Amino acid sequence: MKDRKLLMIPGPIEFTPEVMRAMGAPTTSHVAPNFIEAFGQALERLREVFLCPDGQPFVVAGSGSLAMDMAAANLIEPGDRALVVNTGYFGDRFGEILARYGAETTHVRAPVGDAPSLDDVEAALRADDYKLMTITHVDTSTAVCADVAGLAHLGRQYGALLVVDGVCSVAGEELRQSAWGVDLALTASQKAIGVPPGLALVVAGPRAMAAFQRRQSPVGCYYADWSQWLPVMAAYEARQPSYYGTPPVNLIWALNVSLGQILDEGMEARFARHRRLSAAFKAAVTALGMDQVPVSADKTATTLTAPYFPEGVDRSMLAHVKAAGVIVAGGLHPEIKSRYFRVGHMGVVNAADILATVGAIEKGLSRVAYGFEPGVGLAAAQAVLLEEN
Ligand SMILES: *Cc1c(COP(=O)(O)O)cnc(C)c1O
Repeated sequence: MKDRKLLMIPGPIEFTPEVMRAMGAPTTSHVAPNFIEAFGQALERLREVFLCPDGQPFVVAGSGSLAMDMAAANLIEPGDRALVVNTGYFGDRFGEILARYGAETTHVRAPVGDAPSLDDVEAALRADDYKLMTITHVDTSTAVCADVAGLAHLGRQYGALLVVDGVCSVAGEELRQSAWGVDLALTASQKAIGVPPGLALVVAGPRAMAAFQRRQSPVGCYYADWSQWLPVMAAYEARQPSYYGTPPVNLIWALNVSLGQILDEGMEARFARHRRLSAAFKAAVTALGMDQVPVSADKTATTLTAPYFPEGVDRSMLAHVKAAGVIVAGGLHPEIKSRYFRVGHMGVVNAADILATVGAIEKGLSRVAYGFEPGVGLAAAQAVLLEEN
Protein backbone atom coordinates (compact mmCIF):
# COMPACT_ATOMS: atom_id res chain seq x y z
CA MET A 1 0.00 0.00 0.00
CA LYS A 2 1.44 3.35 -1.06
CA ASP A 3 2.16 5.84 1.75
CA ARG A 4 1.27 3.26 4.37
CA LYS A 5 1.95 4.55 7.88
CA LEU A 6 2.02 2.68 11.15
CA LEU A 7 -0.03 4.51 13.78
CA MET A 8 1.81 4.25 17.11
CA ILE A 9 0.11 6.93 19.19
CA PRO A 10 -1.80 6.46 22.44
CA GLY A 11 -5.12 6.27 20.60
CA PRO A 12 -6.53 5.94 18.05
CA ILE A 13 -4.45 2.84 17.43
CA GLU A 14 -4.22 0.31 14.59
CA PHE A 15 -7.42 -1.71 14.16
CA THR A 16 -7.80 -5.26 12.85
CA PRO A 17 -9.25 -5.90 9.37
CA GLU A 18 -12.20 -7.71 11.00
CA VAL A 19 -13.01 -4.63 13.10
CA MET A 20 -12.78 -2.38 10.04
CA ARG A 21 -15.07 -4.71 8.07
CA ALA A 22 -17.70 -4.37 10.81
CA MET A 23 -17.37 -0.60 10.49
CA GLY A 24 -18.08 -0.84 6.76
CA ALA A 25 -20.98 -3.28 6.89
CA PRO A 26 -24.37 -2.00 5.70
CA THR A 27 -26.00 -0.31 8.70
CA THR A 28 -29.18 -1.92 9.95
CA SER A 29 -31.87 -0.71 12.29
CA HIS A 30 -30.84 -0.48 15.93
CA VAL A 31 -33.60 -2.99 16.68
CA ALA A 32 -32.67 -5.49 13.95
CA PRO A 33 -32.22 -8.98 15.44
CA ASN A 34 -28.55 -9.29 14.42
CA PHE A 35 -27.77 -5.93 16.00
CA ILE A 36 -29.58 -6.80 19.22
CA GLU A 37 -27.56 -10.03 19.41
CA ALA A 38 -24.25 -8.22 18.84
CA PHE A 39 -25.04 -5.52 21.41
CA GLY A 40 -26.10 -8.08 24.02
CA GLN A 41 -22.97 -10.13 23.43
CA ALA A 42 -20.74 -7.05 23.62
CA LEU A 43 -22.21 -6.17 27.02
CA GLU A 44 -21.49 -9.69 28.31
CA ARG A 45 -17.97 -9.61 26.92
CA LEU A 46 -17.23 -6.25 28.54
CA ARG A 47 -17.60 -7.84 31.98
CA GLU A 48 -14.96 -10.40 31.00
CA VAL A 49 -12.54 -7.84 29.60
CA PHE A 50 -12.88 -5.60 32.67
CA LEU A 51 -12.63 -8.72 34.88
CA CYS A 52 -15.79 -7.63 36.66
CA PRO A 53 -18.33 -10.49 36.52
CA ASP A 54 -20.93 -8.65 38.61
CA GLY A 55 -20.53 -5.25 36.95
CA GLN A 56 -23.12 -3.27 35.04
CA PRO A 57 -21.75 -2.27 31.63
CA PHE A 58 -22.77 0.91 29.82
CA VAL A 59 -21.97 1.45 26.14
CA VAL A 60 -22.86 4.92 24.92
CA ALA A 61 -21.90 6.98 21.88
CA GLY A 62 -19.21 9.44 22.92
CA SER A 63 -15.51 9.59 23.71
CA GLY A 64 -13.62 8.67 26.86
CA SER A 65 -14.38 12.07 28.31
CA LEU A 66 -18.10 11.20 28.20
CA ALA A 67 -17.31 8.05 30.17
CA MET A 68 -15.63 10.26 32.80
CA ASP A 69 -18.61 12.62 32.67
CA MET A 70 -20.99 9.70 33.13
CA ALA A 71 -19.13 8.49 36.21
CA ALA A 72 -19.17 11.94 37.80
CA ALA A 73 -22.74 12.81 36.80
CA ASN A 74 -24.19 9.63 38.29
CA LEU A 75 -22.07 9.26 41.42
CA ILE A 76 -21.64 12.86 42.57
CA GLU A 77 -24.26 14.99 44.27
CA PRO A 78 -23.64 18.64 45.03
CA GLY A 79 -21.45 19.00 48.11
CA ASP A 80 -19.91 15.49 47.93
CA ARG A 81 -16.18 15.36 48.49
CA ALA A 82 -13.95 13.73 45.89
CA LEU A 83 -10.26 12.92 46.04
CA VAL A 84 -8.31 12.97 42.78
CA VAL A 85 -5.08 10.97 42.71
CA ASN A 86 -3.46 13.17 40.12
CA THR A 87 -0.66 11.95 37.86
CA GLY A 88 -1.06 14.49 35.07
CA TYR A 89 -3.31 16.02 32.45
CA PHE A 90 -6.21 13.57 32.80
CA GLY A 91 -6.32 13.90 36.59
CA ASP A 92 -6.82 17.64 36.11
CA ARG A 93 -9.63 16.88 33.67
CA PHE A 94 -11.36 14.49 36.08
CA GLY A 95 -11.17 17.14 38.80
CA GLU A 96 -12.88 19.68 36.52
CA ILE A 97 -15.63 17.24 35.58
CA LEU A 98 -16.32 16.30 39.21
CA ALA A 99 -16.45 19.97 40.19
CA ARG A 100 -18.96 20.65 37.40
CA TYR A 101 -21.42 18.35 39.20
CA GLY A 102 -20.87 20.12 42.50
CA ALA A 103 -18.13 18.01 44.05
CA GLU A 104 -15.65 19.59 46.42
CA THR A 105 -12.43 18.20 45.03
CA THR A 106 -9.02 17.71 46.57
CA HIS A 107 -6.05 16.70 44.45
CA VAL A 108 -3.09 14.67 45.70
CA ARG A 109 -0.35 15.52 43.26
CA ALA A 110 3.21 14.49 42.59
CA PRO A 111 5.96 16.06 40.47
CA VAL A 112 5.66 15.37 36.72
CA GLY A 113 6.56 11.75 36.05
CA ASP A 114 5.89 10.62 39.58
CA ALA A 115 2.77 9.30 41.32
CA PRO A 116 1.61 10.23 44.82
CA SER A 117 2.76 7.68 47.38
CA LEU A 118 0.27 5.52 49.25
CA ASP A 119 1.26 7.43 52.39
CA ASP A 120 0.39 10.78 50.78
CA VAL A 121 -2.96 9.43 49.66
CA GLU A 122 -3.67 7.90 53.05
CA ALA A 123 -2.89 11.23 54.75
CA ALA A 124 -5.45 12.90 52.48
CA LEU A 125 -8.05 10.18 53.12
CA ARG A 126 -7.56 10.53 56.85
CA ALA A 127 -7.95 14.30 56.76
CA ASP A 128 -11.44 14.34 55.26
CA ASP A 129 -14.46 12.20 54.49
CA TYR A 130 -14.50 11.36 50.77
CA LYS A 131 -17.40 9.82 48.93
CA LEU A 132 -15.27 8.99 45.95
CA MET A 133 -11.68 8.77 44.83
CA THR A 134 -10.50 8.84 41.21
CA ILE A 135 -7.34 7.27 39.87
CA THR A 136 -5.97 7.67 36.36
CA HIS A 137 -4.59 4.17 35.79
CA VAL A 138 -2.24 5.24 33.00
CA ASP A 139 -1.91 8.97 32.56
CA THR A 140 -1.47 9.32 28.82
CA SER A 141 0.32 12.65 29.25
CA THR A 142 3.16 11.14 31.28
CA ALA A 143 3.03 7.33 30.82
CA VAL A 144 2.85 7.12 34.62
CA CYS A 145 1.01 4.01 35.79
CA ALA A 146 -0.71 4.27 39.16
CA ASP A 147 -0.77 1.44 41.70
CA VAL A 148 -4.51 0.84 41.32
CA ALA A 149 -4.54 -2.28 43.51
CA GLY A 150 -2.77 -0.51 46.38
CA LEU A 151 -4.79 2.69 46.08
CA ALA A 152 -8.09 0.84 45.84
CA HIS A 153 -7.26 -1.22 48.92
CA LEU A 154 -6.53 1.99 50.78
CA GLY A 155 -9.60 3.81 49.51
CA ARG A 156 -11.85 0.97 50.65
CA GLN A 157 -10.50 1.20 54.18
CA TYR A 158 -11.73 4.79 54.25
CA GLY A 159 -15.08 4.03 52.62
CA ALA A 160 -14.47 5.85 49.34
CA LEU A 161 -15.89 4.65 46.04
CA LEU A 162 -13.04 3.81 43.69
CA VAL A 163 -13.30 5.19 40.18
CA VAL A 164 -10.58 4.33 37.67
CA ASP A 165 -9.98 6.21 34.44
CA GLY A 166 -8.75 3.26 32.44
CA VAL A 167 -8.93 4.94 29.04
CA CYS A 168 -5.26 4.20 28.37
CA SER A 169 -5.21 0.90 30.23
CA VAL A 170 -8.29 -1.35 29.93
CA ALA A 171 -7.50 -4.36 27.70
CA GLY A 172 -3.76 -3.62 27.72
CA GLU A 173 -2.42 -2.74 31.15
CA GLU A 174 -3.23 -5.28 33.86
CA LEU A 175 -6.47 -4.16 35.52
CA ARG A 176 -8.61 -6.50 37.62
CA GLN A 177 -11.70 -4.52 38.46
CA SER A 178 -13.40 -6.91 40.91
CA ALA A 179 -10.32 -8.46 42.47
CA TRP A 180 -8.76 -5.08 43.13
CA GLY A 181 -11.96 -3.57 44.56
CA VAL A 182 -12.50 -0.98 41.84
CA ASP A 183 -16.11 0.26 41.89
CA LEU A 184 -16.18 1.82 38.45
CA ALA A 185 -13.77 1.52 35.55
CA LEU A 186 -14.12 3.33 32.27
CA THR A 187 -12.50 3.52 28.86
CA ALA A 188 -13.06 4.55 25.26
CA SER A 189 -13.16 2.47 22.11
CA GLN A 190 -10.09 3.89 20.35
CA LYS A 191 -7.42 2.83 22.80
CA ALA A 192 -6.48 -0.73 23.80
CA ILE A 193 -10.05 -1.89 23.11
CA GLY A 194 -9.17 -1.52 19.43
CA VAL A 195 -12.24 0.10 17.85
CA PRO A 196 -12.43 3.46 16.02
CA PRO A 197 -13.25 6.49 18.22
CA GLY A 198 -16.85 7.01 19.27
CA LEU A 199 -17.77 4.77 22.20
CA ALA A 200 -17.70 5.57 25.91
CA LEU A 201 -17.44 2.32 27.90
CA VAL A 202 -18.19 2.10 31.61
CA VAL A 203 -18.46 -0.88 33.96
CA ALA A 204 -20.00 -0.02 37.32
CA GLY A 205 -19.69 -2.51 40.17
CA PRO A 206 -22.37 -3.20 42.82
CA ARG A 207 -21.20 -0.51 45.26
CA ALA A 208 -21.25 2.14 42.52
CA MET A 209 -24.75 1.09 41.42
CA ALA A 210 -25.95 1.13 45.03
CA ALA A 211 -24.54 4.64 45.52
CA PHE A 212 -26.36 5.70 42.35
CA GLN A 213 -29.65 4.17 43.59
CA ARG A 214 -29.30 6.07 46.88
CA ARG A 215 -29.07 9.49 45.21
CA GLN A 216 -31.30 12.19 46.63
CA SER A 217 -31.02 14.60 43.71
CA PRO A 218 -31.58 14.03 39.98
CA VAL A 219 -28.56 13.44 37.76
CA GLY A 220 -27.38 16.78 36.40
CA CYS A 221 -26.67 15.58 32.86
CA TYR A 222 -29.64 14.43 30.81
CA TYR A 223 -27.67 12.40 28.24
CA ALA A 224 -25.44 10.60 30.76
CA ASP A 225 -28.18 9.71 33.27
CA TRP A 226 -28.06 6.00 34.16
CA SER A 227 -31.80 6.04 34.87
CA GLN A 228 -32.22 6.33 31.11
CA TRP A 229 -29.47 3.90 30.06
CA LEU A 230 -29.96 1.13 32.60
CA PRO A 231 -33.20 -0.19 31.03
CA VAL A 232 -31.63 0.04 27.58
CA MET A 233 -28.57 -2.01 28.59
CA ALA A 234 -30.79 -4.53 30.41
CA ALA A 235 -33.04 -4.89 27.36
CA TYR A 236 -30.21 -5.51 24.90
CA GLU A 237 -28.65 -8.02 27.25
CA ALA A 238 -32.00 -9.84 27.42
CA ARG A 239 -31.96 -9.71 23.58
CA GLN A 240 -34.90 -7.31 23.51
CA PRO A 241 -35.19 -4.16 21.40
CA SER A 242 -34.94 -0.86 23.22
CA TYR A 243 -34.36 2.81 22.59
CA TYR A 244 -33.17 5.89 24.38
CA GLY A 245 -30.58 7.49 22.06
CA THR A 246 -29.83 5.77 18.76
CA PRO A 247 -26.83 3.51 19.33
CA PRO A 248 -23.92 3.79 16.86
CA VAL A 249 -24.77 0.50 15.13
CA ASN A 250 -21.51 -0.07 13.23
CA LEU A 251 -19.30 0.91 16.16
CA ILE A 252 -21.10 -1.56 18.40
CA TRP A 253 -20.70 -4.34 15.83
CA ALA A 254 -17.01 -3.44 15.67
CA LEU A 255 -16.83 -3.43 19.48
CA ASN A 256 -18.30 -6.90 19.66
CA VAL A 257 -15.79 -8.17 17.08
CA SER A 258 -12.86 -6.61 18.91
CA LEU A 259 -13.97 -7.87 22.33
CA GLY A 260 -14.24 -11.35 20.81
CA GLN A 261 -10.66 -11.06 19.52
CA ILE A 262 -9.45 -9.80 22.91
CA LEU A 263 -11.07 -12.74 24.72
CA ASP A 264 -9.76 -15.21 22.14
CA GLU A 265 -6.27 -14.07 23.05
CA GLY A 266 -7.19 -14.22 26.75
CA MET A 267 -6.67 -11.45 29.31
CA GLU A 268 -3.59 -13.00 30.92
CA ALA A 269 -1.86 -13.53 27.57
CA ARG A 270 -2.83 -10.03 26.56
CA PHE A 271 -1.37 -8.44 29.69
CA ALA A 272 1.82 -10.49 29.20
CA ARG A 273 2.14 -9.44 25.55
CA HIS A 274 1.80 -5.78 26.47
CA ARG A 275 4.47 -6.19 29.17
CA ARG A 276 6.88 -7.93 26.80
CA LEU A 277 6.48 -5.48 23.91
CA SER A 278 6.71 -2.53 26.28
CA ALA A 279 9.92 -3.90 27.79
CA ALA A 280 11.40 -4.34 24.31
CA PHE A 281 10.51 -0.82 23.25
CA LYS A 282 11.75 0.73 26.50
CA ALA A 283 15.04 -1.18 26.20
CA ALA A 284 15.51 0.43 22.78
CA VAL A 285 14.76 3.90 24.15
CA THR A 286 17.35 3.43 26.89
CA ALA A 287 19.94 2.02 24.49
CA LEU A 288 19.47 5.10 22.30
CA GLY A 289 20.36 7.32 25.25
CA MET A 290 16.87 8.63 26.01
CA ASP A 291 15.42 9.04 29.49
CA GLN A 292 11.71 8.56 30.15
CA VAL A 293 9.17 10.81 31.86
CA PRO A 294 8.14 8.27 34.55
CA VAL A 295 10.65 8.39 37.38
CA SER A 296 10.97 4.63 37.82
CA ALA A 297 10.16 1.37 36.07
CA ASP A 298 7.52 0.37 38.63
CA LYS A 299 5.57 3.56 37.85
CA THR A 300 5.69 3.12 34.07
CA ALA A 301 2.85 2.04 31.81
CA THR A 302 3.06 -0.91 29.44
CA THR A 303 0.60 0.64 26.99
CA LEU A 304 2.79 3.58 26.07
CA THR A 305 6.28 5.03 26.47
CA ALA A 306 7.17 8.70 26.98
CA PRO A 307 10.85 9.30 26.09
CA TYR A 308 12.55 12.66 26.57
CA PHE A 309 14.34 13.87 23.47
CA PRO A 310 18.06 13.35 23.92
CA GLU A 311 20.38 16.32 24.41
CA GLY A 312 20.39 18.57 21.34
CA VAL A 313 17.28 16.98 19.74
CA ASP A 314 13.80 18.52 19.57
CA ARG A 315 10.38 17.69 18.16
CA SER A 316 11.52 18.42 14.60
CA MET A 317 12.78 14.83 14.76
CA LEU A 318 9.20 13.53 14.76
CA ALA A 319 8.62 14.61 11.14
CA HIS A 320 11.52 12.38 10.12
CA VAL A 321 10.06 9.48 12.08
CA LYS A 322 6.82 10.00 10.19
CA ALA A 323 8.63 10.18 6.86
CA ALA A 324 10.16 6.83 7.80
CA GLY A 325 6.63 5.40 8.04
CA VAL A 326 5.67 5.57 11.71
CA ILE A 327 3.45 8.13 13.40
CA VAL A 328 4.20 8.85 17.05
CA ALA A 329 2.74 11.57 19.27
CA GLY A 330 4.24 14.79 20.63
CA GLY A 331 4.21 15.85 24.27
CA LEU A 332 0.98 16.69 26.09
CA HIS A 333 1.81 17.64 29.67
CA PRO A 334 2.02 21.46 29.72
CA GLU A 335 5.09 21.56 32.00
CA ILE A 336 7.30 19.51 29.67
CA LYS A 337 5.37 19.53 26.39
CA SER A 338 8.27 20.39 24.07
CA ARG A 339 10.82 18.11 25.74
CA TYR A 340 9.40 14.65 25.11
CA PHE A 341 7.29 12.50 22.80
CA ARG A 342 4.91 9.59 23.24
CA VAL A 343 4.66 6.20 21.59
CA GLY A 344 1.56 4.06 22.08
CA HIS A 345 1.98 0.30 21.89
CA MET A 346 -1.34 -1.26 22.74
CA GLY A 347 -4.08 -3.37 21.17
CA VAL A 348 -3.02 -5.47 18.18
CA VAL A 349 0.58 -4.23 18.38
CA ASN A 350 3.17 -6.95 17.69
CA ALA A 351 6.94 -7.44 17.70
CA ALA A 352 7.21 -6.34 14.06
CA ASP A 353 5.51 -3.03 14.93
CA ILE A 354 7.96 -2.46 17.79
CA LEU A 355 10.98 -3.11 15.56
CA ALA A 356 9.55 -0.92 12.78
CA THR A 357 8.99 1.90 15.27
CA VAL A 358 12.48 1.66 16.73
CA GLY A 359 13.88 1.61 13.20
CA ALA A 360 11.94 4.76 12.28
CA ILE A 361 13.07 6.51 15.47
CA GLU A 362 16.69 5.64 14.65
CA LYS A 363 16.12 7.13 11.21
CA GLY A 364 14.69 10.29 12.76
CA LEU A 365 17.59 10.60 15.20
CA SER A 366 20.10 10.14 12.45
CA ARG A 367 18.38 12.81 10.29
CA VAL A 368 18.82 15.37 13.08
CA ALA A 369 22.49 14.38 13.42
CA TYR A 370 22.21 12.80 16.86
CA GLY A 371 25.29 10.71 17.55
CA PHE A 372 24.55 7.04 18.18
CA GLU A 373 25.58 3.69 16.86
CA PRO A 374 23.04 2.70 14.18
CA GLY A 375 21.09 -0.40 15.18
CA VAL A 376 21.79 -0.12 18.90
CA GLY A 377 18.09 0.46 19.66
CA LEU A 378 17.00 -2.36 17.38
CA ALA A 379 19.46 -4.76 18.99
CA ALA A 380 18.24 -3.88 22.48
CA ALA A 381 14.60 -4.42 21.49
CA GLN A 382 15.40 -7.64 19.70
CA ALA A 383 17.32 -8.97 22.70
CA VAL A 384 14.16 -8.64 24.80
CA LEU A 385 11.95 -10.10 22.08
CA LEU A 386 14.21 -13.14 21.71
CA GLU A 387 14.13 -13.91 25.43
CA GLU A 388 10.84 -15.82 25.19
CA ASN A 389 9.29 -18.20 22.67
C1 LIG B 1 -7.52 9.48 25.92
C2 LIG B 1 -7.78 9.60 27.38
C3 LIG B 1 -8.91 10.26 27.89
C4 LIG B 1 -9.88 11.01 27.04
O1 LIG B 1 -10.50 10.21 26.11
P1 LIG B 1 -11.21 10.88 24.84
O2 LIG B 1 -11.72 9.71 24.10
O3 LIG B 1 -10.13 11.63 24.11
O4 LIG B 1 -12.24 11.80 25.34
C5 LIG B 1 -9.10 10.27 29.25
N1 LIG B 1 -8.23 9.67 30.07
C6 LIG B 1 -7.14 9.04 29.62
C7 LIG B 1 -6.23 8.39 30.60
C8 LIG B 1 -6.88 8.99 28.26
O5 LIG B 1 -5.79 8.36 27.82
